[in-house]
Order: sequence, then structure tokens, then C-alpha cells
Amino acid sequence: MKVCAKCGEAKPYTEFHSSKNRADGKHPYCKVCDALKRRKPRGDLVNGRREMPDVEWLKEIIDYQDGVLSFRKSRGGISAGSPLGYESPNGYLHVRLLGILYPVHRIVWKLHHGTDPEFIDHVDGDKKNNSIDNLREVTRTQNNRNASLSKANTTGFTGVCYAKRERMYRAEIYAEGKRTSLG
Ligand SMILES: [Zn+2]
Repeated sequence: MKVCAKCGEAKPYTEFHSSKNRADGKHPYCKVCDALKRRKPRGDLVNGRREMPDVEWLKEIIDYQDGVLSFRKSRGGISAGSPLGYESPNGYLHVRLLGILYPVHRIVWKLHHGTDPEFIDHVDGDKKNNSIDNLREVTRTQNNRNASLSKANTTGFTGVCYAKRERMYRAEIYAEGKRTSLG
């Protein structure tokens, strides 16, 4: 048996990949932990949105403190601990991971809940307040209900608003991709 340096579990030697430069000939991380470490965000488009990176990978590189994200280690010219987030024209903060821009509030959500809801809303309306307490999931059903209500009532906070935000997000990602390829 060998204790994994990552998860701390004692596992049979067969559960560790071979590693020539290690004294015991085995990798310090078990196969499960090694696979998680190797997994990178793919950034595939899913229903028009970029797929979020795996939560394990995000937790490994990103720290969350009071609504602010930072890298645990210096990365891409950004020093460890400095607040992350470019402000986009639509007012949301974004962070670039492996060349892809992700909204900060989506990363905050994923770090805490491990999920990628279709719609996430800022409770107080402040797009830069990415405290986990200020984020709420809005389901498609709620979104549609809000949208239909808004036809009768044009005031206030509506589903149309959410839909617009999502479109802006999509458009912006697209624009950012083009800019990256030109630059
Ligand atoms: Zn492990």
C-alpha cells in the first residue's frame, strides 16, 4: 500500500502510475488524483455557452475570498493573490484561463456549487459584486415565466433582461475569440 500525496488515501501500488525518477518507482499521486490534475478546461461550446472548466481544476488554481478571485500561484504574468477580473463592456468581470474568457460570477458559482446553471443572476444588481451570497440560480422555467410576465408588465426585473445578458455574454466571447486570433 502507498499513501497518495494528494488525497491522502492508502491505496494498492497498482493504483499509482509508474514513475522512473521516484524512489519507489511510483507517482506520488494516485491514478484518480493524477487524472484530475491532468484534466484541463476544454472550453467547448455547449448550447451556445463555453463549457466551464472542471471544479477540481478550478479549486487547484483559484482562490476565492469575499467575492474576489485570485490565482493560488503566479500564472500568465498575474501574481498570486492579486484580484482577478477584466471588466467587459457589458459590466461583468471576466478572467482568462488558458486563452478563454470566463465570467467571474460563473467561476465563483462553480467553485461553490460545482454546477453550471443556465442563468445566474446578481441579487443586488451589481454585476461586479461576485460574492457567492449575491449570486442566485435562475432556472429556464423561471426565466420563461419572467419573460412572459414582462410582456404584460414592462417595469422591473424581467426574463428578457436575463436573455439579453446571456446574448451579450455569447457575443462577447465570440468577439474575444476573434480578437485573440487576430492578435
Ligand atoms: Zn489520490
